[in-house]
Amino acid sequence: MKLSLTAAALTGISVFSYATCLVNATAWVVGYQSAGYTGWNMRQYDDLYVGNPREVAYIFGSNANTLPGAVCGSWTEWYIITNPAPGTCQAPGCLKPTHVNKDGTCGDYCSLSHKTLGETLCLMCLASAKQTNSHFCSKACADAAEMKGPMILEVPVGHVTFRDVTDQFKASWRHTGTKPPSVKRIYKIVSPQSSLASYNAYKSTVEARGQFVAAGRSAGNENRRWHGTKRECCFGDGKGFMQFCGSQTCSLCCIVRTSFDLGLFGKKTGWGRFGKGIYTSSTSSKSNDYSTNECRSPLKAILLNKVVVGKGCKLTQDNVALTSPPQGYDSVLAEKGGSLNYDELVVYTNDAIRPSFLVMYEA
Ligand SMILES: [Zn+2]
Ligand SMILES: [Zn+2]
Ligand SMILES: [Zn+2]
Repeated sequence: MKLSLTAAALTGISVFSYATCLVNATAWVVGYQSAGYTGWNMRQYDDLYVGNPREVAYIFGSNANTLPGAVCGSWTEWYIITNPAPGTCQAPGCLKPTHVNKDGTCGDYCSLSHKTLGETLCLMCLASAKQTNSHFCSKACADAAEMKGPMILEVPVGHVTFRDVTDQFKASWRHTGTKPPSVKRIYKIVSPQSSLASYNAYKSTVEARGQFVAAGRSAGNENRRWHGTKRECCFGDGKGFMQFCGSQTCSLCCIVRTSFDLGLFGKKTGWGRFGKGIYTSSTSSKSNDYSTNECRSPLKAILLNKVVVGKGCKLTQDNVALTSPPQGYDSVLAEKGGSLNYDELVVYTNDAIRPSFLVMYEA
């Protein structure tokens, strides 16, 4: 595929038409640089979105015959997006000056109500405040997201959800002697309606059996657990990297697209301490050990998942022959001690788990 769009053709396009336009080309070779990273990242990808004000995008070479991946010519800048004018409220549509604190520093918003709005935006429209216990402002936005699923939606830095997920990542980084890496990007994973329906049906069955709500717990004893896996592509690295790659062996893309699949058990390691199950951990630093990149990236990926734990059977010794939870239980809680340094949670059915957030952190 040859580059057919030159740098000159891209000049003069406003930030807004850029933010919403999809450059109609395949396999562009571009470089990008994000705030906080040094050096350039060079990537080849299909869909190029530029909407993040922190990013600078470049087309590599202005020669129309430059092949993707070829190194020739110099960097040709085609657009630089700068941060929004400092001192302007970041709430959608607001152009008022930001609040000035007593010590003379500037806030990000003009008022407390706009701060609240900015920190609770609907992840679909990024225009209205989300509803409590939902990522969306309205049924229309929730339906629109589900219709488009599977996909990922970026959670803005500073959003309450960004803080919530980051807090869990940091608090559960338990490996002594290491500090939790800085979280750079978080994406909400939107699963299709049918996939969520089968998860919720399973959760209801487990709840009916175990009556967890009556005991003051969540329905089905649902908990959020980490999972680290292999990433072959640059999925999650930024605006241009929100489409799944086509590889059947890119575990990250496969899980985000179609959730976990016991049918693939053992493909990577060949065995599991607690048998043929889906493994997660409450310890982010343990799941980090399983997160691998087969791409060049300044970031690593980890998944935060919702898991129906139900009644968990506590085990401290390996039992590699398990293909279902022990009689009377819904899952296995492999506890610290015995053969394990950190906890693991094992479920034995695909419908007991769905990926919920993709968290990108400093490698
Ligand atoms: Zn404002
Ligand atoms: Zn909305
Ligand atoms: Zn991939």
